[in-house]
Order: sequence, then C-alpha cells, then structure tokens
Amino acid sequence: METLTANQLSVYSFGNKKTDGGRDMKELLGGKGANLAEMSRIGIPVPPGFTITTEVCTQYNEEGKEAVINRIEPEVRAAITRIEETMGTIFGDDENPLLISVRSGARVSMPGMMDTVLNLGLNDESIKGVIKMTGNERFAWDSYRRFIQMYSSVVMGLKPESKDDLDPFEEIIDHLKDKRRIEQDTQFNVQDLQDLVYDFKDIVQKRTGKPFPTNPWDQLWGAIAAVFDSWNGDRAVYYRKMHGYPEDWGTAVNVQAMVFGNMGEDSGTGVCFTRDAGTGENVFNGEYLINAQGEDVVAGVRTPQQITLLGSQRWAKLAQIDEEERKENYPSLEELMPDIYKELFEYQNKLETHYQDMQDMEFTIQQGKLWILQTRNGKRTGAAMVKIAMDLLKEGLIDEKKALMRIEPNKLNELLHPVFDPKALEEAEVIAQGLPASPGAATGQIVFFADEADKFKNSILVRVETSPEDVEGMNIAKAIVTARGGMTSHAAVVARGMGKCCVSGAGALKINYKTRTLKVNDHEYHEGDWISINGSTGNILEGKVGTKEPELSGEFAELMELSDKYTTMEVRTNADTSKDALIARNFGAKGIGLTRTEHMFFEVDRIKAMREMILADTIKGRKQALKELLPMQRNDFEEIFRAMEGFPVTIRLLDPPLHEFVPHQLATQKELAEELHISLAAVKSKVAELEEFNPMMGHRGCRLGNTYPEITEMQTQAILEAALKVKKEGILVKPEIMVPLVGTVEEFNQQKAIIDTTAQEVFKKRKDTVEYSVGTMMEIPRAIFIADKIAENADFFSFGTNDLTQMTFGYSRDDSGKFLPTYLEKGILKHDPFEVLDHEGVGQLVEMGTQLGRKTKSNLKIGICGEHGGEPNSVAFFQKVGMNYVSCSPFRVPIARVAAAQAAIS
Ligand code: PEP
Ligand code: MG
Repeated sequence: METLTANQLSVYSFGNKKTDGGRDMKELLGGKGANLAEMSRIGIPVPPGFTITTEVCTQYNEEGKEAVINRIEPEVRAAITRIEETMGTIFGDDENPLLISVRSGARVSMPGMMDTVLNLGLNDESIKGVIKMTGNERFAWDSYRRFIQMYSSVVMGLKPESKDDLDPFEEIIDHLKDKRRIEQDTQFNVQDLQDLVYDFKDIVQKRTGKPFPTNPWDQLWGAIAAVFDSWNGDRAVYYRKMHGYPEDWGTAVNVQAMVFGNMGEDSGTGVCFTRDAGTGENVFNGEYLINAQGEDVVAGVRTPQQITLLGSQRWAKLAQIDEEERKENYPSLEELMPDIYKELFEYQNKLETHYQDMQDMEFTIQQGKLWILQTRNGKRTGAAMVKIAMDLLKEGLIDEKKALMRIEPNKLNELLHPVFDPKALEEAEVIAQGLPASPGAATGQIVFFADEADKFKNSILVRVETSPEDVEGMNIAKAIVTARGGMTSHAAVVARGMGKCCVSGAGALKINYKTRTLKVNDHEYHEGDWISINGSTGNILEGKVGTKEPELSGEFAELMELSDKYTTMEVRTNADTSKDALIARNFGAKGIGLTRTEHMFFEVDRIKAMREMILADTIKGRKQALKELLPMQRNDFEEIFRAMEGFPVTIRLLDPPLHEFVPHQLATQKELAEELHISLAAVKSKVAELEEFNPMMGHRGCRLGNTYPEITEMQTQAILEAALKVKKEGILVKPEIMVPLVGTVEEFNQQKAIIDTTAQEVFKKRKDTVEYSVGTMMEIPRAIFIADKIAENADFFSFGTNDLTQMTFGYSRDDSGKFLPTYLEKGILKHDPFEVLDHEGVGQLVEMGTQLGRKTKSNLKIGICGEHGGEPNSVAFFQKVGMNYVSCSPFRVPIARVAAAQAAIS
C-alpha cells in the first residue's frame, strides 16, 4: 500500500489502495472525507475519489473563488486522472464516461449543509456512453434529468420564486404527468424523460439567464464553489451558531466516482449490518437486489433478497415460501455470488474490528466488482445496544470503560417498559401529540374519572390534569393522559414513580367531563373507546395497538454490575411505598432520596382523618385527627425501612398545600359532611378558605410545619417510632428527616428544634434511641444564597430541582405545557428545563448552594431528588458539582446508574 505523507496538500486522494488521509484527519478532511480515507487505508475497496481540504475553504472565503480555483486546479486535475485510471473511464467521454458525486463534509455532521450532487459529468454526449455502458436508456435519461434538477437547484440556486410558488422543475413534471395522464415518475418513458431534460434546460436558461453547463469541468468547478459557498449559507450559519461551531472550521469537498449496480445481472446493490440491529445477535445480515440502484432497495418496488443463506431461509419461513421457490426466485447473495459474498463477509469483519462497533454498510457490485460505499456505526434498539456492548467487551474488542460509554442511558427505557409491537404500530394512526412524560406503551379504554379507573380491565385515565386525589385511580389505570401540565406536573411525576406510561400536556385534547367525551380535530371519543399511548414519544394513537412486555437479559445485569464498578456517586430512589422501594432496590438503588409523605394520606382509610385534621378549627381538634393518622404513618414507614434494609431513607415532611386534600366535588363534600357530622356549608366554606391564588407559592412546604407544628411532631414521632420498631427486629435503619421548601434559616432551625424535641420524647418513652439526621430540601433560590448559614444546623441538603427550576425561571410546573412546546419549537429553549437541568441558570444555583454548604461543613452530604436525578445529561452535571447521590423514580434507577458511571469515567 502506498501512503503519502503529504505536506500541505489541498487535495487528498483515496481509493484503489491509495490514501493520503486517515480517520484522525477530521479537522482537515471533514468527517466524511476522513472516513473514506480510513476505509481506503485499511484496504476496503471504496470508489476512488478525493477530498479538497477545509483549509481550502477558509482560503476561498478569504481570497475569493478565482484565486483559489487557479491554485488547486493542477491538484484537482491530477486527482481526476487518478480516478479515471482506477475506474477505466474518462470524465466527459461520450463512449466511456466517468460520472462523479460531489458532497460537502465538515468536521462534524451538519444537516444544514449543501445537498449532494450525483451523476456530475453527464451531458448530451456522455449520456450516450452511459446508455451503452448500462444498456438501459430509460435509466440514463432519468439520471440526466435528475442531475439537471439537482445541480440547478443546489449549485445554480434555482429555487421557487416566492414562498407559495411551486418548484419550477416539479411544475414541469406535473404538467407532463397531466398531459400523459399518469401519476408516478416511474411511468415516464424514454421520450418523456428526454422532453424533461429539454424543458429543464430551457427553464434554467430563462430563470438564471445562463445556459446549463455542458462542459464537465465547468460543472465540477461550479459544484466545488457551491460547497464552499454553502459554508456561509443561511442554514449552515444558523446551525453553526446554534452549536457554537467556529466560522473558521470550513467544510471539505468530497468528489467520488459514481458506481452503478444496474449494469446487468453481474451488478447489484445492498445494505448490510455486521450484527442484528434488533436483537444484537452476532450474525451478519442484510438485503440486496440484483441489477438495481441504491434507491431500489429502499423504494420497495422489488422485494429485496437476503444476503446470507441463513437469513434467506429465516425470511422464507416467515414469508411462507418453500425452499424450492426461495432458491429459484430469492436466492441469497451467498448462493448467487459466492465469491462476492466471501469478499463482503471479510470486509464486514474487518470494518467491525477496525471501528470496534456494529457497522451499517452500503455496497454496490458493478459488473462483478464489489465496492463499499459507506460504513457507519449502526443504529440499534435498546436491547441490541446492551447486547452488542457486552459482547464486544467479552470478545476483547473494547474495554470496560468503552463498553459503558457505548450505552445511551435513555435507551434503556425500551428494556424496562412495555413497548408497542412494531408491526401493529406501523398501522396505527396518531391522533394527538403530548409530552413524553413517562415511558412505555399502553392500550386501553378511556375513563375520565380516577375513581372509575376500575370500570374496564385496561383503562386509560384521561384528565385535563391530575391531583393527589387521583393517585389511587392512577395506580389502577394502565396509563394516564393529561391535556395540561409539563414534565414535572403531578401526573408526570406520579406516573414515573409508578413506572406507568403517561403522556402529559396534550393540548389538542378537548375534554368534556360532563358528556364524558374527548374531542380531537373534530373527532369525538367516548368513555370506553380504545386508545393507545406511547409515553416514550408522547404520541396518542387511535384504537387498540398491541404491546409487548419487556424481558431483562443477562447482558443487562452484566451492564449494571459494570456500572457500579465505576460509579462514584450513589444512586438512590424516590419511593413513597414499600412496593416502589422494592422495585428500586431490585434495580440497584442504594437508598431512598425522597419519600413524599403526602401520597400516604390519600388512601381510603386515611383521607378521612386527614380531612378531619384540615377542617379542625382548634389545635386540639387537629391533634385528635393527627393521633388517628399516627399509627398508619408509622406502619408505612416500618414497611419502607424493612424494604430498604439498612440503606438510608430520606423522609420528607408534609409538602403540598392543604386544599389538595379536601374534596372538590359536591357529592364527596356531602359525604364528608355526613361523616364528620358537620354541615355541608361548613365543609364548603372551609374548602373555599383553603383555595389559593397561587398554591405553588402558597401555604405549603415547611410553612405548614411552622404554622401547624403538631404536623411535624406527628410525622417525626411516626418516623422514629417506626425506626425503633424495625431496629428491634434486627434490621439496620438510617432515617433522614427532610424539611421541604426552606427559604430562611429560621424556617429550618425552628422545624429542626421541633424534630429534635420530639425525638427526645420518643426515645425517652421507648427507652431506646436510633441515629437520625435532619436536613433540608434546597428548592427556593433564597435558600441557595444563604446555604452556608443553613448548613450550620443541617445534616444534609437535597436539591429539589423541580421547584428550583419553577422558581428560577418563573415557569409554573403545572402550566408550562401551554408555552414550552412553542418555546422548544422556536428554539427559545433548547430543552424542557423540567426535564433536562438548565446548567446555565439553575445549574449555577445548584453549584453555588453546594459550595456554600460545604464551606460551612466540608463533608456535608448533598444530593438531588428532583426529576433531573434520572436524566443522563443532568446526572453528569451533578457529578461535576460533586454531589454524593442522585435520587430518581424506581424505573429510572438503571438509567441513572449507567449515567453516573459514564459521568465518573469522563
Ligand atoms: C422538587 O421540587 O424538586 C421536589 C423533589 O419536590 P416536589 O416535586 O415534590 O415538589
Ligand atoms: Mg419541591
């Protein structure tokens, strides 16, 4: 192999066992160019070509077109000659023409850049050669008219004249179709295509005032200049700015010989994968077509055949085709062209080993010669991602760290939740789009009220929004849909905690509780109608769509174990019940970072006592009601402590505004009045009294405990008595009591004093003690600024990034669904800040709070229990800030474990 160590070349050739570049030269050759050079370098037969460097692009922008083209011309001409020699064809020749493609290629993939120009070199003369070479006149003319179309728009800038103007070429095509009374482009005959070529050239002349270039060299220089110009085009500039890519990077130009898979029975084209992209199984597989162009494989006009014999036999079985017919009509490439197959098999092996990952390759066979057009890391399912990473590790191709970094943590969702059967999904119709609030797939019958969730075996609860009252019904329902609310709305948070599929903020749904109907785009759905929802995409689909339950593989367990080896930050869970705690422990959670005690009060047996407490007008009345709640709370905590067996458990004192607990419907208000032997008017007036203009900023959090200290006393008593009981059973307990929504030092200190006094009383009464700690949520911006003072008395901090985001942005968690989708669409925000932590703003507060807290206590334990605790990008930020743990909903624990390991590695 010949390798040049070029000094300041402008043009780098590749192909035919020669290469001037390599994969490490992305800066100079762009991503595409470096990859082509690399394939060529390791002996893969890529169609020959060359890359003009990104440096030339910079010079072009500084010195102008003419100077630069003059300078690079000799190198470009020499490089074209090299291609001609390799291919045995001649650029612009009318007997044996070389056709080329021209593509842009910056150092990173930039979807805003120039489109590709194919078949460059075609003109009225060279087309004769193409007809001769392919024996396919229709193909030749079709290629020619496509080339003119592509070149004129991409290079000559021929565009519709105004926004509502049609594309000029499409207009001509439509006109011809009407005249010929045909519908499809495929129905054009040779004469039609010749007419199109003529008309296209005519319109180019008319619109641009210039003739379409017939000289291949003029065509080439035009295309090269267009690629360089595209670097400063609107799309590229916008994309660059968005990602912060510097202007002086420039783009490279890739020029490459076209190869044809439609040159007879000894030609063909296909796509293949080095492993199964669906399951991850280590089997080479793919599809091909004989005598076809690349697009024929994807177009679905002809049935593609399988590359391997094994794949072909498997396919035939599914298609119910017997072996005789298969061999006759659908042979595998392995059978039909054994030598080509052998060569292809070798290359796939070589490429996978070289790139150390599953490859997705495109190839073309031109008259018995195999060309590899492209290779890239193949897209894969979540299951395949895990299996391939673990298999490559076992095969010694990659090391542990690389295997871990190969995992896209969010893709693990696919493995943990039910998914739609892909076939069923293809046929399903999307009726509305909401936010992907909690992943998974579900199909069921519509119910509109939480207390009717058991009406059908599989019901989907559809609400404008949910409230804590609905929790029981949400638990029974298969899935939850809300018309309002964002990623941290009540519905979203609770559903994620339950591992239940949820779509929130689907604004197009018009729900009418009275008529029990749901209207979307003029279509009305009734209670009992079937719908399906995809909590991973936010899609709401019509009718019943089949789902599949997940199964966790051995490789999944191996991945989890491997993550723990590298993690430095603990992963805890947010769990309100022992059931959730156990799920999370099975997923590897090392403690509970947040138990929201409020959810415990909604169960049927407790809500009455809770309401009694709220409605009581005196301390005495409240204490009486709290006494009824105490044994129930204690029992809940005991179960959670047992489930967590010695892992730390953070229990948060009551947080939500009290009005959430009182009944809002007349029937339930009546029921309550009867139960408590008071008048309906009294109930109504109390409910009205509790209404707040802005409950999220109202009487909630530690403001409750500070105004009604008896609530804090009861909860502390329940926590510590439960701890003592479980301790007696020989189980280690580590209770951590957490005060919510602290904004001033005194707010925290006074709550802590109540907790400590209550603790002493409990210990004295039970003649036993247990170690406990008292910390605070950090979720109000003011608390961040005085974190050093709060830390004097607090044992730990836990960042409540849901509220912190709400208060930092001033976006209501429950109403953000109304404008956030537009903000994301318009690029005002890059991410939903309730989903991905806003590093720039909220992140700064998190960092500051951490630093100030540790200034006072260098070993202060700090964690996060907002929804961001299970979001990989945010987890990486928390690692950087130096947190001790992240806490997330049970089904996100595996995702957070991998994300934490990755954060530690990088
Ligand atoms: C938070 O605000 O981030 C938090 C965890 O508390 P909640 O979601 O219950 O308000
Ligand atoms: Mg909060």
